[in-house]
Amino acid sequence: MGYEDGACRALDVLVVGAHPDDAEIGMGATIALLTAQGKRVGICDVTKAALSTNGDVHTRMREAAEAAARLGVHVRENLDLPDRGLDAQNTEHVRALVHVIRAWRPQVVCAPVARDRHPDHVACAQLVAHAVFDAALMRIETGHAPWTVARHYAYFMHELGTPTVLCDVSDVYEKKSHALRAYASQFDASFRGAVATRLNEGFVERIAHRDAWLGASIRCAYAEGFVLHTPLVLQTL
Ligand SMILES: [Zn+2]
Repeated sequence: MGYEDGACRALDVLVVGAHPDDAEIGMGATIALLTAQGKRVGICDVTKAALSTNGDVHTRMREAAEAAARLGVHVRENLDLPDRGLDAQNTEHVRALVHVIRAWRPQVVCAPVARDRHPDHVACAQLVAHAVFDAALMRIETGHAPWTVARHYAYFMHELGTPTVLCDVSDVYEKKSHALRAYASQFDASFRGAVATRLNEGFVERIAHRDAWLGASIRCAYAEGFVLHTPLVLQTL
């Protein structure tokens, strides 16, 4: 389902990733938790990861669709911006994401943290920050009404920073593992013709260790960590 069909309702949560599989690595279990709670969650991948060592674009798209189905995601879009060419200073790149935010009107937007070994994850973080800001500006016209995002979270990819929010995902953690296994071209060393990379040499297990370590800090089996970029509005401490 696309956002141009005019029949879609607003999303509760929009998760943006640089590549198909980023959303699952960073917060796949939280997505599963949200959809199990009846929330409408969408994923927007901004590139098709055309430069990945393993798997071609067609395979990546098929895997992404399967992973989204396993997590109960309502919609998954791909902006097809250039892999290793994301640029937050490029107005067309920012406008493409502004269009998605305004079309789906999410209360919450999630994106990678801006500190990561992969430059595309950093660029994606910057792109989302610009788009969240611009989406609210009345005089930027994209064919949709301006939209103000209530909460903007960052999720962790290859680096682990200090989370300001932890989500207990113990009850749904298997759904994250199941979704990640949909990306056989990336994480399965026995995938046809696969070249050994850091992704298919125990990466999924390391992500589970990371999430277990975060969980241990709040005495649960698994947690995913976030940094909240917008003020948390409370009526009391
Ligand atoms: Zn990525």
